[in-house]
Amino acid sequence: PFDVLIVGGGPAGAAAAVYAARKGIRTGIASERFGGQVLDTLGIENFVSIKETEGPKFALALEEHVRHYDVDIMNLQRAKALKAGELIEVELESGASLKAKSVVITTGARWRKLGVPGEEQYRNKGVAYCPHCDGPLFKGKRVAVVGGGNSGVEAAIDLAGIVAHVTLIEFGEQLRADAVLQQKLATLPNVTTVLNAQTTEVTGDGQRVNGLVYKDRASGEEQRVELEGVFVQIGLVPNTEWLKGSVDLSRHGEIVVDAKGQTSIPGVFAAGDATTVPFKQIIIAAGEGAKAALGAFDYLIRS
Ligand code: FAD
Repeated sequence: PFDVLIVGGGPAGAAAAVYAARKGIRTGIASERFGGQVLDTLGIENFVSIKETEGPKFALALEEHVRHYDVDIMNLQRAKALKAGELIEVELESGASLKAKSVVITTGARWRKLGVPGEEQYRNKGVAYCPHCDGPLFKGKRVAVVGGGNSGVEAAIDLAGIVAHVTLIEFGEQLRADAVLQQKLATLPNVTTVLNAQTTEVTGDGQRVNGLVYKDRASGEEQRVELEGVFVQIGLVPNTEWLKGSVDLSRHGEIVVDAKGQTSIPGVFAAGDATTVPFKQIIIAAGEGAKAALGAFDYLIRS
């Protein structure tokens, strides 16, 4: 069996692998797609010490760093269940099953998509999901934020300080964000809020986004907004469906962890976007991954 088995090969998993391997213990990492969300990222400018890089390049660097150590890397493996016992067992879709004394879960998350024409075509060409990451690319431009929950309203407030104008589009009749956020939003002169509006299309000139079309759900009329960017903020979904019934999950499906990354099952740790730890960023996921691996090591030497 592995001493530490990591499930997920994003920044959190890679950091956990490096930290575990450096303890000289038997370490494995199984993941569907090594690199994780970083593979879908164009530019990264907020991983301190690396002024500027590209997602695929960063993903390759993660894998190279892990390969430098004696780590059993199992790519293209999707976990489908976790069973606690004397040893912890992770079942894979392939039918195989891996056993370990401790497990670090780092299966990350995915942004919920609008599912409208233009969204996929203009992804990274005006369509964005992360205001902390891509906000500065829209300096002085016009953008829309789709989604009026906490993350949408936070994004609108954040972006209003950078871009020329923000149109906040909410499907329902009211914003769903906390009152304090709504009050702050109302004080901003360069934000227009549109309620009861269903986004139906992201338009572009073939190269980049040039507008967004929504349907006024009361009148049924279509409206077009001219802009350069669309931030989709309708939810970040943790990749934890496979854990239902094993570790404790929050109401949003995030793995509940303590300060050492320990889950509700002894010996099972978790880190990164899949967990309750706030602010989903590469540097945070990597730090949490390191922490969870140290948590697992701490567990191993005590048991
Ligand atoms: P992920 O990166 O999501 O990795 C999850 C890993 O688990 C992957 O290897 C995946 O294949 C694997 N996996 C999932 N389910 C299973 C399963 N059942 N079995 C086995 N393996 C599984 N953050 C920044 O800090 N700066 C940026 O500029 C930035 N830009 C971004 C741009 C985009 C378009 C996106 C989508 C995100 C961006 N982020 C950025 C956020 C950042 O990518 C994430 O916070 C970070 O990747 C989270 O790392 P993670 O290791 O927790 O999870």
